[in-house]
Amino acid sequence: MIINGRTRPTAVIGWPVAQSLSPVMHNAAYEALGLNWACLPLGVPDQHALLAFTEAARRLPFVGFNVTMPYKQAMLELCDETATLAQLAGAVNTVHCVDGRLIGYNTDGRGLLESLENDASVNPAGRSVVILGAGGAAGAALTAFILGRASSITIVNRTAERAEELLARVHNNLRNTAASAMPLDLSAAPAIRDADLIVNATPTGMSASDPSPIPMEWLHEGQVVLDMVYQRPETALLRAATLAGARPVSGLGMLVAQGALAIDIWMGEGSGEGRAPRDVMRAAAAAALEEQCAPAGGDGL
Ligand code: NAP
Repeated sequence: MIINGRTRPTAVIGWPVAQSLSPVMHNAAYEALGLNWACLPLGVPDQHALLAFTEAARRLPFVGFNVTMPYKQAMLELCDETATLAQLAGAVNTVHCVDGRLIGYNTDGRGLLESLENDASVNPAGRSVVILGAGGAAGAALTAFILGRASSITIVNRTAERAEELLARVHNNLRNTAASAMPLDLSAAPAIRDADLIVNATPTGMSASDPSPIPMEWLHEGQVVLDMVYQRPETALLRAATLAGARPVSGLGMLVAQGALAIDIWMGEGSGEGRAPRDVMRAAAAAALEEQCAPAGGDGL
């Protein structure tokens, strides 16, 4: 990658961002596409820094930026305009900088659908789905599955009230999808046993010692289990899914797809510029992840 006077910046902002795979994935895509862009990880330690960065992004030649934990919800309020999907999800993970204005999108939900299609040949239409978690990623999954015409969606969360709040936000957009919320305890077992598709949208699994968020006994053959956690190829949940005969899907495909969809937006979807190269991005992310997971690995990126 050559950085010169005409290079335009993009960024991933969050706290912490040292382990983010976005810079390596994005820079590989820019190079393959011949774009004179460069992606930087920018650690934003607090709300003051977030406000300062968004003001700078309005005035400097940023193409756009990605937003990661813990600022996806806060970013919704800081954009000048937000796409309907981001409003329904209650979170912005992609910002396009256009003539001093910040336009917010959420590509997590569409990334999830793209990964399910590419990695497991699954279309959620007519399927019963369980989402574990009720945070930003769960909100994005919920909106994606409503748009994808799932027959039923159950939000299962440690704090049941948060699951209820999430459902209340999309209540008027449910169309023909039945939706319910329940706590992450034994009462969720029947819904999980009946589900065609189970998506983990909690951080459980990020640490190698984390247990599966649900017992293996609740899973069975014929189900697809996608773990949004992508830090390791096989989390305890994916191991449980495999042992139970269900189909495990790692969150890496979703990570790549949400990043690729952000680049598509920045290039101008439908502009004839082509699509971000998912294969190049996946190879770059997988290589960086392997380096991070290596025993002598340090900071990795
Ligand atoms: P978030 O807004 O902080 O929400 C986290 C959710 O997980 C909350 O509902 C929380 O429950 C629940 N939770 C947290 N710790 C838990 C535990 N020990 N046991 C059970 N439930 C627990 O986070 P987020 O932004 O939605 O992200 C969630 C995960 O998805 C993260 O690991 C993130 O890296 C991953 N993610 C992956 C992708 C991808 O592309 N693969 C994209 C987005 C996010 P309470 O409400 O009870 O606190």
